[in-house]
Amino acid sequence: MSARQIALGDPEVPAASTPDTIPAGCYWWTDLAGDLCLLPGCAARVQDADAECTCDTLGARYARLQRQMRDQREKQRNADVWWRALRAAVEAHPDRAVILADAHRRAGR
Ligand SMILES: [Zn+2]
Repeated sequence: MSARQIALGDPEVPAASTPDTIPAGCYWWTDLAGDLCLLPGCAARVQDADAECTCDTLGARYARLQRQMRDQREKQRNADVWWRALRAAVEAHPDRAVILADAHRRAGR
């Protein structure tokens, strides 16, 4: 075994599988014998290496991440509005101190 193989992982020292180490799409490479090998990134090519690749393009992945970021920001805005309203309701309540003490106890603070 060469150092190059260990860097890619081998049966004795497999490479860790994390989102940072797995190619985001189908990945073609040549092994030490020069044979062309496929690391499939989509279900189509897991089934058949000659199938048309259905991996997301970089642009599609970027657009999906942008949508997820917008959704998260909207959820945070809604949570912030709810938090301010709830906090104002508690501040205006005659049992404010009891309610806040109970909330601190429930939160473990
Ligand atoms: Zn693919």
